[in-house]
Amino acid sequence: MRIDLHIHTRPRSACSAIYPSELLKEARRAGLDGLCLTEHQRLWTSQELEEISRERGLRIFQGNEITTNQGDVLVFGYEENVKGVVMIHELRKEVEKAGGLMIAAHPFRGFLLFGITQLRMDLEQACRRTVFQYVDAVEVLNCKVTDPENEMARQVAERLGLLGVAGSDAHRLDEIGRCITILERDVSTERELIEELRAGRFTTEVCSSW
Ligand SMILES: [Zn+2]
Ligand SMILES: [Zn+2]
Repeated sequence: MRIDLHIHTRPRSACSAIYPSELLKEARRAGLDGLCLTEHQRLWTSQELEEISRERGLRIFQGNEITTNQGDVLVFGYEENVKGVVMIHELRKEVEKAGGLMIAAHPFRGFLLFGITQLRMDLEQACRRTVFQYVDAVEVLNCKVTDPENEMARQVAERLGLLGVAGSDAHRLDEIGRCITILERDVSTERELIEELRAGRFTTEVCSSW
Protein backbone atom coordinates (compact mmCIF):
# COMPACT_ATOMS: atom_id res chain seq x y z
CA MET A 1 0.00 0.00 0.00
CA ARG A 2 1.62 3.22 -1.22
CA ILE A 3 1.04 6.14 1.13
CA ASP A 4 2.14 9.74 1.23
CA LEU A 5 2.32 10.52 4.95
CA HIS A 6 2.73 14.28 4.73
CA ILE A 7 0.34 16.49 2.72
CA HIS A 8 -1.00 20.01 3.30
CA THR A 9 -4.17 21.44 1.77
CA ARG A 10 -5.71 24.87 1.81
CA PRO A 11 -7.41 26.66 3.41
CA ARG A 12 -6.54 24.67 6.54
CA SER A 13 -2.82 25.12 5.79
CA ALA A 14 -2.57 28.68 4.46
CA CYS A 15 0.92 27.90 3.10
CA SER A 16 -0.43 25.21 0.75
CA ALA A 17 -1.63 25.69 -2.82
CA ILE A 18 -3.47 22.35 -2.94
CA TYR A 19 -7.25 22.41 -2.82
CA PRO A 20 -8.92 19.29 -1.43
CA SER A 21 -11.03 19.08 -4.59
CA GLU A 22 -7.90 18.48 -6.71
CA LEU A 23 -6.16 16.26 -4.22
CA LEU A 24 -7.59 12.82 -4.91
CA LYS A 25 -7.22 12.98 -8.68
CA GLU A 26 -3.59 13.99 -8.37
CA ALA A 27 -2.93 11.37 -5.68
CA ARG A 28 -4.30 8.68 -7.94
CA ARG A 29 -2.25 9.95 -10.85
CA ALA A 30 0.82 9.71 -8.62
CA GLY A 31 -0.02 6.05 -8.00
CA LEU A 32 -0.92 6.41 -4.32
CA ASP A 33 -3.28 4.05 -2.49
CA GLY A 34 -3.60 6.37 0.46
CA LEU A 35 -2.51 9.66 1.95
CA CYS A 36 -2.33 11.50 5.24
CA LEU A 37 -3.59 15.02 5.69
CA THR A 38 -1.13 16.69 8.02
CA GLU A 39 -2.19 20.32 8.26
CA HIS A 40 -0.37 22.74 10.54
CA GLN A 41 -2.27 22.36 13.81
CA ARG A 42 -5.64 22.17 12.08
CA LEU A 43 -7.75 19.05 12.20
CA TRP A 44 -10.42 17.94 9.80
CA THR A 45 -13.73 16.88 11.33
CA SER A 46 -14.69 13.26 10.70
CA GLN A 47 -17.60 14.48 8.59
CA GLU A 48 -15.31 16.56 6.38
CA LEU A 49 -12.95 13.62 6.01
CA GLU A 50 -15.79 11.35 5.05
CA GLU A 51 -16.91 13.81 2.43
CA ILE A 52 -13.58 14.02 0.66
CA SER A 53 -12.82 10.32 0.95
CA ARG A 54 -16.12 9.37 -0.63
CA GLU A 55 -14.30 8.69 -3.87
CA ARG A 56 -13.37 5.03 -3.74
CA GLY A 57 -9.97 3.48 -4.01
CA LEU A 58 -8.03 5.95 -1.89
CA ARG A 59 -7.69 5.89 1.86
CA ILE A 60 -7.46 9.23 3.60
CA PHE A 61 -5.91 9.39 7.05
CA GLN A 62 -5.55 12.27 9.42
CA GLY A 63 -2.41 13.43 11.15
CA ASN A 64 -1.34 16.77 12.55
CA GLU A 65 1.88 18.74 12.08
CA ILE A 66 2.55 20.26 15.47
CA THR A 67 5.00 23.06 16.15
CA THR A 68 7.06 22.16 19.20
CA ASN A 69 9.93 23.88 20.98
CA GLN A 70 12.15 21.27 19.29
CA GLY A 71 10.83 21.64 15.75
CA ASP A 72 7.91 20.30 13.72
CA VAL A 73 6.51 16.94 14.67
CA LEU A 74 3.98 14.86 12.72
CA VAL A 75 1.56 13.19 15.07
CA PHE A 76 -0.83 10.35 14.29
CA GLY A 77 -3.48 8.92 16.57
CA TYR A 78 -3.80 12.05 18.70
CA GLU A 79 -6.76 14.13 17.64
CA GLU A 80 -6.52 17.13 19.92
CA ASN A 81 -6.71 20.67 18.71
CA VAL A 82 -3.42 22.14 19.85
CA LYS A 83 -2.53 25.81 19.60
CA GLY A 84 0.74 27.71 19.65
CA VAL A 85 4.14 26.22 20.31
CA VAL A 86 3.99 23.02 22.34
CA MET A 87 6.64 21.71 24.71
CA ILE A 88 7.79 18.44 23.21
CA HIS A 89 7.99 16.52 26.50
CA GLU A 90 4.40 17.48 27.28
CA LEU A 91 3.25 16.48 23.82
CA ARG A 92 5.03 13.15 24.19
CA LYS A 93 3.16 12.41 27.41
CA GLU A 94 -0.21 13.16 25.82
CA VAL A 95 0.47 11.26 22.61
CA GLU A 96 1.70 8.24 24.55
CA LYS A 97 -1.46 8.27 26.62
CA ALA A 98 -3.49 8.30 23.41
CA GLY A 99 -1.40 5.49 21.88
CA GLY A 100 -0.29 7.74 19.04
CA LEU A 101 2.89 8.00 17.03
CA MET A 102 5.33 10.90 16.72
CA ILE A 103 7.59 11.59 13.75
CA ALA A 104 10.32 14.26 13.63
CA ALA A 105 9.45 16.13 10.41
CA HIS A 106 12.34 17.30 8.20
CA PRO A 107 14.64 17.43 11.28
CA PHE A 108 17.56 19.01 9.43
CA ARG A 109 15.69 21.45 7.20
CA GLY A 110 17.92 24.48 6.72
CA PHE A 111 20.67 23.01 8.89
CA LEU A 112 22.89 21.90 6.05
CA LEU A 113 22.30 24.72 3.60
CA PHE A 114 26.02 25.29 3.25
CA GLY A 115 26.86 21.65 3.09
CA ILE A 116 27.78 19.25 5.85
CA THR A 117 31.48 19.86 5.50
CA GLN A 118 31.24 23.61 5.97
CA LEU A 119 28.82 23.45 8.85
CA ARG A 120 30.70 20.62 10.48
CA MET A 121 27.64 19.19 12.06
CA ASP A 122 28.70 15.62 12.42
CA LEU A 123 26.53 12.60 13.01
CA GLU A 124 27.26 12.51 16.73
CA GLN A 125 26.10 16.09 17.19
CA ALA A 126 23.07 15.50 15.01
CA CYS A 127 22.05 12.48 17.09
CA ARG A 128 22.15 14.56 20.27
CA ARG A 129 19.32 16.86 19.16
CA THR A 130 16.60 16.80 21.82
CA VAL A 131 13.79 16.04 19.38
CA PHE A 132 15.05 12.50 18.83
CA GLN A 133 14.52 11.57 22.48
CA TYR A 134 10.80 12.14 22.09
CA VAL A 135 9.81 10.64 18.75
CA ASP A 136 9.14 7.15 17.45
CA ALA A 137 10.23 7.90 13.92
CA VAL A 138 12.20 10.29 11.76
CA GLU A 139 11.16 11.60 8.37
CA VAL A 140 14.14 10.49 6.29
CA LEU A 141 12.69 11.46 2.93
CA ASN A 142 10.98 14.84 2.53
CA CYS A 143 10.78 16.58 -0.83
CA LYS A 144 11.21 20.09 0.57
CA VAL A 145 14.74 19.64 1.87
CA THR A 146 18.12 18.98 0.27
CA ASP A 147 19.57 15.52 -0.31
CA PRO A 148 22.26 15.96 2.39
CA GLU A 149 19.54 16.98 4.88
CA ASN A 150 17.55 13.84 4.09
CA GLU A 151 20.72 11.77 4.23
CA MET A 152 21.60 13.14 7.67
CA ALA A 153 18.10 12.28 8.90
CA ARG A 154 18.49 8.75 7.53
CA GLN A 155 21.81 8.23 9.25
CA VAL A 156 20.52 9.59 12.56
CA ALA A 157 17.47 7.30 12.45
CA GLU A 158 19.68 4.34 11.73
CA ARG A 159 22.15 5.18 14.48
CA LEU A 160 19.44 5.79 17.09
CA GLY A 161 17.32 2.83 16.07
CA LEU A 162 14.34 5.00 15.16
CA LEU A 163 11.96 4.22 12.31
CA GLY A 164 12.68 6.12 9.10
CA VAL A 165 9.57 7.12 7.16
CA ALA A 166 8.95 9.11 3.97
CA GLY A 167 6.48 11.93 3.34
CA SER A 168 6.40 14.55 0.61
CA ASP A 169 5.37 17.55 2.73
CA ALA A 170 3.39 18.47 -0.39
CA HIS A 171 2.27 22.09 -0.61
CA ARG A 172 1.78 22.01 -4.41
CA LEU A 173 -0.06 19.50 -6.57
CA ASP A 174 3.07 18.29 -8.33
CA GLU A 175 4.69 17.47 -4.99
CA ILE A 176 2.09 14.87 -4.05
CA GLY A 177 3.55 11.37 -4.04
CA ARG A 178 7.20 12.33 -4.39
CA CYS A 179 8.27 10.64 -1.16
CA ILE A 180 6.31 7.51 -0.44
CA THR A 181 6.03 5.05 2.41
CA ILE A 182 5.10 1.58 1.15
CA LEU A 183 3.30 -0.58 3.70
CA GLU A 184 3.51 -4.35 3.44
CA ARG A 185 -0.11 -4.70 4.54
CA ASP A 186 -3.27 -2.82 3.70
CA VAL A 187 -4.59 -0.53 6.41
CA SER A 188 -7.91 1.23 6.67
CA THR A 189 -7.72 3.13 9.95
CA GLU A 190 -5.18 5.40 11.63
CA ARG A 191 -4.78 2.77 14.35
CA GLU A 192 -3.80 0.14 11.81
CA LEU A 193 -1.49 2.60 10.10
CA ILE A 194 0.26 3.33 13.41
CA GLU A 195 0.56 -0.38 14.13
CA GLU A 196 2.20 -1.13 10.78
CA LEU A 197 4.59 1.81 11.06
CA ARG A 198 5.52 0.87 14.61
CA ALA A 199 6.20 -2.71 13.53
CA GLY A 200 8.49 -1.43 10.79
CA ARG A 201 6.54 -3.28 8.10
CA PHE A 202 7.28 -0.74 5.38
CA THR A 203 9.88 0.59 2.99
CA THR A 204 10.41 4.09 1.59
CA GLU A 205 10.75 5.30 -1.96
CA VAL A 206 11.42 8.47 -3.88
CA CYS A 207 9.28 8.97 -6.98
CA SER A 208 11.48 8.19 -10.00
CA SER A 209 10.33 11.21 -12.01
CA TRP A 210 11.40 13.62 -9.31
ZN1 LIG B 1 3.31 24.43 5.43
ZN1 LIG C 1 4.59 19.87 6.60
